[in-house]
Amino acid sequence: MEREVRVRFAPSPTGPLHIGGVRTALYNYLFAKKHGGKMFLRIEDTDQDRFVPGAEEYIQNALAWCGIQLDESPWHGGSFGPYRQSERKEAGIYGQYAQRLVDEGKAYYAFDTKEELEEMRKRLEAAKVVSPQYNAITRATMKNSLTLPEDEVKARLASGQAYVIRIKMPKKEEIRFHDLIRGWIVVHSSTLDDKVLMKSDGMPTYHLANIVDDHLMQTTHVIRGEEWLPSAPLHVLLYRYLGWEETMPKFAHLPLLLKPDGEGKLSKRDGDKFGFSVFPLLWKDSENSANSSSGFREDGYLPDAFINFLAFLGWNPGTQQELFSMQELIEAFTVERIGKSGVKFDINKAKWFNQQYIKAKPNEELATYLLADLQKNNIACEPAKAIKIVGLLKEKTTFPQDFYKEGVYFFNTPTQYDEAVVSKKWNQEVVTVLQSFHTTLQADNQPFEAAHIKHLLHEIIEAKGIKIGGVMQGIRVALTGIGSGSDLMEVMAILGKPEVLTRIQNALQSLQGRVLAK
Ligand code: GLU
Repeated sequence: MEREVRVRFAPSPTGPLHIGGVRTALYNYLFAKKHGGKMFLRIEDTDQDRFVPGAEEYIQNALAWCGIQLDESPWHGGSFGPYRQSERKEAGIYGQYAQRLVDEGKAYYAFDTKEELEEMRKRLEAAKVVSPQYNAITRATMKNSLTLPEDEVKARLASGQAYVIRIKMPKKEEIRFHDLIRGWIVVHSSTLDDKVLMKSDGMPTYHLANIVDDHLMQTTHVIRGEEWLPSAPLHVLLYRYLGWEETMPKFAHLPLLLKPDGEGKLSKRDGDKFGFSVFPLLWKDSENSANSSSGFREDGYLPDAFINFLAFLGWNPGTQQELFSMQELIEAFTVERIGKSGVKFDINKAKWFNQQYIKAKPNEELATYLLADLQKNNIACEPAKAIKIVGLLKEKTTFPQDFYKEGVYFFNTPTQYDEAVVSKKWNQEVVTVLQSFHTTLQADNQPFEAAHIKHLLHEIIEAKGIKIGGVMQGIRVALTGIGSGSDLMEVMAILGKPEVLTRIQNALQSLQGRVLAK
């Protein structure tokens, strides 16, 4: 019988969730929804030394912002809980499995101290062993339940001496498994080490806990980053050793996210280096503010655009379509269309997606961004005017905050004029046109609309035999203080006649000396 699809996202709360982690969560979500299955979240917090306060909350907020809905989680519960490994450890879930492996001769106790391990490493290095490991060969020289007499092992355990439990890796065996993205993978056990399964503090390691949990929580597919591919053979072996091969999840290891130049894996520090965010949300490090990082949300990305961008970092629909809603992604998503090779992170593509989503939004909705920013700056504005402004600006807008940045001249009567433009473009022709335009506007009584304004201005320019290209930027700088922006006739229509008259007057006065000086 086909099992219900159950996938999991299993982050470790060691800091803010990296964009690669969000992509993993997204692909799991799309896969689960596509197959009518479930997605759950499990917090993998067995490594207490790396625990970072606030990280779990961050993960929760980030997924919520992205619209990735979990069917089961530490926060909503579910019938396979607890959903935090620390709590599962408390519930005594892992110990029995480690014990079973020891009892069946598939794992063993190792009593080696830190110093002894260090000595082994040095010895192997001196012997020019390329990767010094505790493995099928070297274990014979160490202090463990395979080398020590049985009585001594018992005595050590009884006296409470510290030990770990290590997997007994077969000396020579092929471990093969199928990856949905990479096909068949074959690894020789001689290249693998005797990984610790249980630590001396009684905590399971990631490897043991992950396998036990995926089994007990009935995970059908493990979709995770390529950095876990080297661990997969060990995991496959553990499923076999524990007798769970038949229900072993299917694996899909996602391609790496690469730096923009393609030189290596995108790291948490690359955000600062390349000047963009690699985290979904702003991260404030409570202990060290220098470790704080910007987030896509705070940079002004819309969640839909962010998701669309992420979906394409490693997957493509095989068609020309680029804009996908979450629902469309769910329908189009297949693991077969995920690539194997690393994907360059291109922030310009993220910006492009954001632009597309901004453009597609109704002006009424976009106006709320502008109105909020205006309010923050104590500038009053009628909603109708804000709607007109965003409508005019949205073609060239990447982020919601651009409406205020790019449109603030609508609210501030210029008192200063861009010097670079003035020095090049302010001349007698501009002054003559503006003077006439001012007079014409005062006498005009038609509705003050873009087409009509254009008609009036062009009539003046033509009548004076002036080239339009030579005066437009000068007129613009007079009206807005800057040298570029949206269609000037539309800008004037929004400003309204009284304001346009004031601005012309102001500019003629303020810049009077500039023509004479030439
Ligand atoms: N806890 C691991 C991580 O932080 C999960 C890896 C896996 O999905 O198996 O990424």
